[in-house]
Amino acid sequence: MTPQKENPFKNSLEQLHKAAKILELKDDIVERLSIPDRVIEVAVPFKMDNGRLRTVKGYRVQYNNARGPYKGGIRFHPQVNMDEVKALAAWMTWKCAVVDIPFGGGKGGVEIDAKQLSESELERVSRSYIRQIYQFIGPTVDIPAPDVNTNAKVMSWMVNEYEKIVGHEAKAVITGKPISMGGSEGREEATGLGGVYILDELFKNNDITPYQISVAVQGFGNVGYYFSKFAMERGYKVVAVSDSSGGIFSEEGLNVEEVADIKSKAGSVTAYQKSGVKKISNEELLELDVNVLVPAAIENVITDENAAKINARYIIEMANGPVTPQADVILLQKNIEIIPDILANSGGVTVSYFEWSQNMKKIRWSKEDVFSKLQQKIISAYKCVFEEKEKRGCSFREAAYVIAVKRVIEKMKFD
Ligand code: NAD
Repeated sequence: MTPQKENPFKNSLEQLHKAAKILELKDDIVERLSIPDRVIEVAVPFKMDNGRLRTVKGYRVQYNNARGPYKGGIRFHPQVNMDEVKALAAWMTWKCAVVDIPFGGGKGGVEIDAKQLSESELERVSRSYIRQIYQFIGPTVDIPAPDVNTNAKVMSWMVNEYEKIVGHEAKAVITGKPISMGGSEGREEATGLGGVYILDELFKNNDITPYQISVAVQGFGNVGYYFSKFAMERGYKVVAVSDSSGGIFSEEGLNVEEVADIKSKAGSVTAYQKSGVKKISNEELLELDVNVLVPAAIENVITDENAAKINARYIIEMANGPVTPQADVILLQKNIEIIPDILANSGGVTVSYFEWSQNMKKIRWSKEDVFSKLQQKIISAYKCVFEEKEKRGCSFREAAYVIAVKRVIEKMKFD
């Protein structure tokens, strides 16, 4: 992960302010929406395998709960900081509103390099983080989930620790759990698949076959892998993928499953070798002449420094905050349409909401049910944003924010 030059929270506020201007909101309302309800910073002590006590910083930001309990993942990363967590929590607020699920926005983070820990150290730091924040979360209060470098196993330790502290069963306190522990079918695939439902909508009325549509995906983790896989299965031509070690490109299209297989054995997509496949850098991937560019790794990868060199017709923001506000302006001048993160990657939180609903009602849905409900939710959110964009003659991002901010304000009390 490259160090962030931009402050993501400042960026998230700029996006809010643009929507506020379109909606002609009063300054006092904008001021209220610009400050998170609560920020929590804690010490997270845990024992290393060698017996040493190590203490790292942990964060939880509860941005807004006007529409329902705070909702948002927990990120483990050495460069996690309060501004990043605040931005991610704000984006969750707008995301839940745009996809119309009854949650507010929150986010958490622990300043740690999870890859440097043994499994037992990872378990101890995960459990310790919950001990520090348990009084602020709960199934109807604040519901964490996985994010970068955390997964279903980490969630299972966290739920277990929470249940031990409160002394009763409370599976709905966290989503993204293993299926055996109350997780939902389809959660793992949900974010990537949701993005592909939008990809289908974008090209629905075009007279071209999916194979004529070239797609480049930056990041080959949970989101990037499933996006690429479902896109390939529907016939789109996935010409490039990458991870933090670099990328690969094939004019004819890549076999995503073969690439995933090599990555799982060798650790990176760059180990994939086949005739017609060449190595490219992450910078080169972003600048490819493709129909659709999918940043699915980290924030701030398209900035005012490289925006002029982007050649894609559409950008589907599967990562959170991959395009800076300055780059946004340049891309719009180039007539590049951007499907904003708060809409494009909302499939994950939508199925998290399904998981929470199933836990609360003690029922289980099949994967087919989950995918069909997900498709309905995402397509209806996309259509709503598209109509707003057409009505106002604005960008997809502005339209999505306008809808989200309006929905949040409707539920807020300003006294
Ligand atoms: P992940 O950790 O599974 O995968 C991240 C991928 O990005 C890895 O392949 C990694 O090698 C790659 N990467 C890291 N730094 C990079 C760099 N500098 N250049 C290129 N590639 C780089 O994470 P994920 O869950 O797939 O999340 C990816 C993005 O999607 C994040 O921004 C996350 O906040 C967002 N997101 C995830 C979900 C979800 O359900 N997992 C939901 C909504 C949004």
